[in-house]
Amino acid sequence: MTKQKPGLNTICTHVGEVADKQFKGAISPIYMSTSYAYEDVDVKRYPRYFNTPNQEMLGKKIAALEGTEAGMVFGSGMAAVSTALLAFLNAGDHIVLQKTLYGGTFNLVEEEFSKMGIEYTFTDGLQKADFEKAIQTNTKVVYIETPSNPLMTVTDMKMVSELAKSKGIVSMIDNTFASPVNQNPAEFGIDVIIHSATKYMGGHSDILAGAVAASAAHMEQIWHKAKNLGGSLSDFTVWMLERSLKTLVLRVKQQNRNAKKLAKWLNQNTHIKAVYYPGLKSHPDYALAKSQMSGFGGMLSFELADELDAEAFLKELKLIKPSMSLAGVESTILSPAQTSHALLSAEERAHQGIADGLLRFSVGIEDKADLIADLEQALEKVVKDSLNFSL
Ligand code: PLP
Repeated sequence: MTKQKPGLNTICTHVGEVADKQFKGAISPIYMSTSYAYEDVDVKRYPRYFNTPNQEMLGKKIAALEGTEAGMVFGSGMAAVSTALLAFLNAGDHIVLQKTLYGGTFNLVEEEFSKMGIEYTFTDGLQKADFEKAIQTNTKVVYIETPSNPLMTVTDMKMVSELAKSKGIVSMIDNTFASPVNQNPAEFGIDVIIHSATKYMGGHSDILAGAVAASAAHMEQIWHKAKNLGGSLSDFTVWMLERSLKTLVLRVKQQNRNAKKLAKWLNQNTHIKAVYYPGLKSHPDYALAKSQMSGFGGMLSFELADELDAEAFLKELKLIKPSMSLAGVESTILSPAQTSHALLSAEERAHQGIADGLLRFSVGIEDKADLIADLEQALEKVVKDSLNFSL
């Protein structure tokens, strides 16, 4: 490779490969061994030490994608989240988390942290004053997620990292929704960057994995906790993830383009009450998103007009699959009230602005004309049904 800093596509294609020195194959071989020699070696390798050849090399690709010194891969996004948090939190410590968070992270904090003697505060909002108000003398970590699920709110990464640094607090972000293609939090001073690699990094709805990128010093601390908690990934899945990452930029850029077009189309449709996409000028966080993201992502949410039946609309879709999870090459859609946010009370959902009829759309790589046609025919059906009903 040349001296010039490689671009994202080149990183995806080439960085972090396991060289096939024996047969000179073009791609990484898979090292499935759980037993490695311990004599006359620099590193004692074992899968749960996160240091098999495939794990170690994929960590380099993750680090290169996020522009950090080090990277690690985990058995799931939640293994990455829990390990990173517990690496910096002990009994008696306090963490500040933004209030709009992935449900699994919220549950981890609510169900486990009190038992461990870890104090926590969810912010009232996403402004500097909200974070300042929540920080205590024993705060060790500030944790954000941007864009957030499902309303695509945007948190100011620079504001959070500067506030955290001024108080000696570690800043962490869940960067899953943006992916490293659209947002590199390290550029804004965030210390620890976490991904559910099940989503855009994997991208084909066939891998459960997590990833963390950070400085070498922070990663050393995370690694010590990681080998005790044991959330490592099978080397076969590591290899699948490396293969998937080769097309990350191509996939995500197509998803960005499609999502922007669909958000605009939905926004001008009279049967749609609201559209939440950070790339729409009407989104309250558009200016902030533009200042810290290089693309607005493939995730959006929308509400049908009040008289239309959202459940019936989902049933009428032919191409877009009502389905859990997100970020695959195929377009999927779900009702947050019935899935990701079902455990919240109706009042808490209302408080967070999550209407029962809200639909979260993970836009895939299909041709945008086909996606629009699918939305259009499903809308036509439910509009017709609502007219028949009111006659
Ligand atoms: N963070 C976000 C934003 C997510 O959407 C998810 C899963 O949906 C996770 C973390 C957890 O990832 P995993 O399901 O891979 O454990």
